[in-house]
Amino acid sequence: LAGRLSGLGTTIFAEMSRLGVETGSVNLGQGFPDTDGPPEVAEAAVAAIRSGVNQYPPGIGVPELRTAIAEHQERCYGLRWDPDTEVLVTTGATEALAAALLALVEPGDEVVALEPFYDSYAAGVAMAGGRLVPVTLEQPGCVLDLDALRAAVTPRTRLLLINSPHNPTGAVLTREELAAVAALAVERDLLVMTDEVYEHLVFDGREHVPLVSFPGMRERTVSVSSAGKSYSFTGWKIGWVTGSAELVAAVRTAKQFLTYVSGAPFQPAVAAALRLGNAPLVQLRDDLQAKRDRLCTGLREVGFDVHVPAGTYFATTDIRPLGFVDGVEFCRELPRRCGVVAIPSQVFYADPARGRHLVRWAFCKRDEVLDAALERLSTLR
Ligand code: PMP
Ligand code: GLN
Repeated sequence: LAGRLSGLGTTIFAEMSRLGVETGSVNLGQGFPDTDGPPEVAEAAVAAIRSGVNQYPPGIGVPELRTAIAEHQERCYGLRWDPDTEVLVTTGATEALAAALLALVEPGDEVVALEPFYDSYAAGVAMAGGRLVPVTLEQPGCVLDLDALRAAVTPRTRLLLINSPHNPTGAVLTREELAAVAALAVERDLLVMTDEVYEHLVFDGREHVPLVSFPGMRERTVSVSSAGKSYSFTGWKIGWVTGSAELVAAVRTAKQFLTYVSGAPFQPAVAAALRLGNAPLVQLRDDLQAKRDRLCTGLREVGFDVHVPAGTYFATTDIRPLGFVDGVEFCRELPRRCGVVAIPSQVFYADPARGRHLVRWAFCKRDEVLDAALERLSTLR
């Protein structure tokens, strides 16, 4: 293994999902819904396969999908993108993130990211030869420490990597926090990558504000999203990048040699999903808000300290009130002890000690599955 990748090992999601299968556990670890998205969207993919949409599509994505992505951004946020030059379809948000980091980061450059961070950020920065500089969102509360963010920026900083709604904490940055991030990026002339895959999963009447919508951001921001989260088709791996023609062309250069193109029949289907308008997005959000409440109430009854998320489909608990200290040990034992899988949050920290006592639970599951997990966890009480 090349030195650049040493320490990356096997992702926690693969390890925990495998353990879950081996033990017949209820999987509240890896974030994927156990109910598929709108049936007419699945039918659109089937129809595309049956009608012969099965060969390499254009590298930047089929025109129908690029147009639907641009229309969706205009409808939701008033953002206007040229579908031919400012939109790029990718193989999930994962490829978008990796391609953008490979395209924009020089060896030795620093990338400042909010910690805890989704695991592929560290891998993407490492593959690009960069150095990830974490700025910690302290839990509970997850208020962005703007002084710490400011202090993390050095002359070597190339890019700010922001994620809101945020995995794993479920934090949603406020408009004021986002404005301050944008002002810092402009002041220090930084590129910004903003991972907004959970853009539609914000609760309690909060609104998602795209970071690119702040003054001075359009020319420096690569925005990333995915059909996986918004339409519950995580296995289709259709994501996208929007940004200035110059930045999108840079990302496209890397994408060409990572996957070349992305799944042909899924693209018209995702276009059909985006054209359904707001109804399925609002439905998913409301369903998930109820599931969040169901899981958080149950976890509190089990005895955890629960950090209720403002968005995403993850809740975080502090395991110490139940007498546990280490989340990795807890999560490795939990499948055999109780038949439930969860993710130790410490894997999302540059220094695992900072997240040692935290465990992440996914609530994008059917109510009876959440109830079964809570029933099994009640033996911890
Ligand atoms: N970013 C974040 C914050 C995520 O949680 C995920 C995982 N679903 C991704 C990116 C990757 O998305 P995709 O499955 O579309 O590659
Ligand atoms: N993004 C999801 C999570 O955080 C799934 C990630 C994955 O399997 N790579 O759980």
